[in-house]
Order: sequence, then structure tokens, then C-alpha cells
Amino acid sequence: MNQYDFIIVGSGIAGLYTALLAKEQGSVLIITKGSIDDCNTKYAQGGIAAAIGKNDSPELHYRDTIAAGDGLCDEEAVRILVDEAPGRITDLVNFGVPFDTLNGKIALTMEAAHSVPRILHAGGDATGEHIEVTLSRKVRASRIQVLEDCLATEILVERGSVSGIRALDCRTSSVEEFSCRSLILATGGAGQLYKFSTNSEIATGDGVALAYSTGAELIDMEFFQFHPTALRLPGVTPFLISEAVRGEGGILRNVEGHHFMPDYASEGDLAPRDVVARSIVYEMKKTGSDRVFIDATHLPSSVTTTRFPHIYRFCLDHGIDITKGLVPVAPAAHYMMGGIKTNTWGETNIAGLFAVGETACTGVHGANRLASNSMIEVLVFGNRIMERIAEGAETEEPTVNRGVEVNYTLSQRQAPKKISAPSLSTLQKLHWDRVGIIRDRESLSQAADTLAAWQQSLPQPADRPSYELSNLILCGRLVTEAALIREESRGAHFRADCPYSSSQWQRHIVLSKG
Ligand SMILES: Cc1cc2nc3c(=O)[nH]c(=O)nc-3n(C[C@H](O)[C@H](O)[C@H](O)COP(=O)(O)OP(=O)(O)OC[C@H]3O[C@@H](n4cnc5c(N)ncnc54)[C@H](O)[C@@H]3O)c2cc1C
Repeated sequence: MNQYDFIIVGSGIAGLYTALLAKEQGSVLIITKGSIDDCNTKYAQGGIAAAIGKNDSPELHYRDTIAAGDGLCDEEAVRILVDEAPGRITDLVNFGVPFDTLNGKIALTMEAAHSVPRILHAGGDATGEHIEVTLSRKVRASRIQVLEDCLATEILVERGSVSGIRALDCRTSSVEEFSCRSLILATGGAGQLYKFSTNSEIATGDGVALAYSTGAELIDMEFFQFHPTALRLPGVTPFLISEAVRGEGGILRNVEGHHFMPDYASEGDLAPRDVVARSIVYEMKKTGSDRVFIDATHLPSSVTTTRFPHIYRFCLDHGIDITKGLVPVAPAAHYMMGGIKTNTWGETNIAGLFAVGETACTGVHGANRLASNSMIEVLVFGNRIMERIAEGAETEEPTVNRGVEVNYTLSQRQAPKKISAPSLSTLQKLHWDRVGIIRDRESLSQAADTLAAWQQSLPQPADRPSYELSNLILCGRLVTEAALIREESRGAHFRADCPYSSSQWQRHIVLSKG
């Protein structure tokens, strides 16, 4: 069995950045299930948040993050995030990420629920692509070993500590085992759970499923962020229309042309994502339409085309000139706030197992992620994993405590009847319809029963699609059960049958195999 100091699963910003730091401390293997650049990171448009502007401060960034998180942010983790963010931006600049500049300084833009312009961007609206390509070039030029088309299928544990990983070579279908001192899961999110999603096809919750199956604790799984504005055109994937379009002055109109956001929130079009997403759902219901529109026609066309070249081109290719016409949009699943529970050093409750990026839950997002806080979270906590390991201070029996927590295991459910395994699209439709932007006890209970029955009906996975389906069903069960347990509405979790926040629920739901 090949032995490494570090095995990192995933090659988005989390995997690549952490690998570049890890190589200074030992041998590194990256396992990734597609090609190195298959990930969500390369689709990130708006940018990356850090308090580097003249009128900004870590304190302001802290306040905005806490406000968006709706009572569930881990205050210590947020403090670390905002204080360490500027230093991590310097790392990216040193790695060669070409951030856009204005008058010789890094340009900053505004996004929803940020109180000042704080978002760095590259290539206008191609920030993620520039970061991914810059980091993957660095990795390829280094001695880091990368195995593409290699799917992690099981975490290996010996005497309570992680000892390695089992993986499927998707090209040859052979199974291999690799051993390591530290295993870092950087597997991204689970947006493929939903029929309408901005996420790439890799986002199938593999890290969450692998960690849960190994006994790791998961937290905040009920909080799934829906982006308010993804392009809604028949037969076209829900391409993201960045919040930054509204940050630059774009406004939302319903099909009747009414500018509706001021009716719902004092912040208008720049209200937090959950508020805008729900307002759009209400407007669509009210007007009997499956879409609303972003109007950017009043902005100088030179601003639109230079700030959003990617969005401009994508819409033009689909017959819409956004400088002259309205862009049809609707909400889509976007970001998994919950995930593998980590402390502020990226440690999980299993010795030797770390998690970073969208698969991890460090506690900085609470019930609702502030726009552009996810890539910066990756850098801050990826760096802290490697600092911890460098100090030789890894915890032997990590306990990860996030304030007031309640612990559950997945409840047993009676399969209603013999049921056959679903297709991916059936699963996605169920989740969209029953575990979506607005849920209630009945819809969630039905989904929970169906998911449990589907899980029982699955044959042993043998290839990438069947492993991914199995992981998504497990992940779906975790999201649905947590959403059932939380009998209130908070942040991205909205229950029509209990539409208000309750102080009793200012606590976290932790799920583990027990
Ligand atoms: C359209 C879009 C726009 C966004 N815009 C922004 C933005 O402007 N700012 C911001 O901060 N955030 C943004 N986000 C969120 C942000 O991009 C992601 O949260 C972040 O990039 C996640 O990085 P990651 O490395 O954790 O995951 P990813 O980039 O998704 O990478 C996950 C990696 O893990 C691999 N993998 C998964 N499972 C396995 C397995 N079993 N075996 C082997 N490999 C596996 C995948 O192939 C992939 O390489 C956006 C997201 C989307 C989808």
C-alpha cells in the first residue's frame, strides 16, 4: 500500500490550496474523482470577501457575517475568519491570482448584506476560474502527486484513528488503498440533491457520506442556501447571475414589471439571500409565473460588460443582451452551510481526519452564508489545519464543541412499500418539491420516508454514478431529518408550519451514526 504524509480528497480551492501548504511538511497525494479542474470553485463568479478596503475593518466584516448567520454563527470561528482573511488574500496574490485592480489597487465591489464594498474579483466575474487555474498550475508544477478519475469510497480507520482511504479508479474499475498520517476531506458540497442547482455535477455530498459512515459528526445539515438568481430558461442549466449584478445596481422585477424587493425588506434588492429567495418564490406564486427578472438595463453598458463579461456572454449566447433586456431568473440550490463538524483547526471528532471547504462546517456561516465568505473560509481554515499539524498539536481524541448542541442519529423509518431505487432526476425532484426553499412537516415527513426506502433499495455501488447516488441519498436523509427536527424558521431553513424563529432553537443539530 502506498504511504503518504497527507492525502487530500478533492481538487477545488480547498484541496489545492491545502495541498500547496501541506507539501512544505511532507509527501502529498491528491485524489480527485474527475479531472483536476472539475469542481464548483471554477464557477464562482462574484468573488472573495476580506476587509482590506479603506473604509472597512475586520469588525465590520464580523458584524455582517454574524447578522447573516441569524443567531447560529460560531463567534470565535467568525472572529478568526475576519482577522485572518487579509493574510490569506496575500497568499493568493503571492500564488499569482490576478485580482482586478483600480488605480493600481485591488478593486472591491459590493454584494448583498455586506455593509461596505469588500469583494475582490478576478477577470470581472470569473474569480473562481482564475483561482482554480492558478492553483492547479502550481500543484502540477510541484512534487504533489495527483490521481485524477479516482473516487474515494471509504475512509480506513485503525484503533480509532484514520489510517488511509479506499478508492475506485474510475478508468479501470480497480480498487486501491492508500495510507496516510492525515486525511483531509475537501470534497465540496451537495447541490446535486436539487432539481434546480447552480452546482457542478461533482457536488454529490461524498465527503459528508464518507465521514458519517466512519462515525464523524455532522452539524447544521438543515441549512441549505438557495441562490435567489439563477438563469431560468427552458433546457438551460441554472447558470448563476451573480449577486454582484445587484451590487452594481441591478434590480428585481416581477413579470408585471413591478420592482418588488422594497415591499419585503428595507435593504431592498441587497437583502440577505434567504430573504430574496423567499420573496421571489412569493412573487412567482402571486403572479403565476416560474420566474422573475433582473433589470440591469439602466446601468451604463460599459460597466455591465466589463464587470460581468462572463454573464454577459453566456446570456448573449442564449439570446439575451443584458444591457438592453431583462434576464429571467429564479432561485436554485447553491451552498451547503452544514457539513462535517470541525473545530477552528479543521479537526473532526476522529483523530487524523480533517475537513475543509464546503464539505466542512466550521461554524462561520451559521444559518445563512454571507455572499463571498466561502472561498475565504477555505483559505483561513485550510491554513489553520496545516499550522496545527506543523506545531505537532493535533488532538488525539478531538472533541468538537459548538455551544449548545443536540445530538441525534438517523431515525428508523418503515418503508411504506417495496420501492425501486430512484434515478438521479427523481431524487432531485423529490428534494426540490419537498425539502426546498419552503418546507413543512408533511412535505419533510413524506420525503424522509421515501429517502429511507430508497436507501434500503439500493444495490451495492460499483461505479462512480452509483456511489454518487448512494451518497446523495444519505446526504438527503441527513438534510431532511435535520429539517424535520428543527421546528422553527431561521436563516435558509424556512418551515411554513412554524414560520418564526424560536429562542429555544438557538442551538445546533448534530447527527452521527452513534
Ligand atoms: C455557481 C457558483 C458560484 C459561486 N460563487 C461564489 C463566490 O463568488 N464566492 C464564494 O466565496 N463562493 C462562491 N461559491 C461557492 C464556492 O465556489 C464553493 O463553496 C467553493 O468553491 C467550494 O470549494 P471546495 O474546494 O470546498 O469544493 P469544490 O470546488 O466543489 O471541489 C470539490 C472537489 O472534490 C472532488 N471530489 C468530491 N467527491 C470526491 C470523491 N468521493 N473522491 C474524489 N474526489 C472527490 C471534486 O471532484 C472536486 O475536485 C459559488 C458556487 C457556485 C456553484
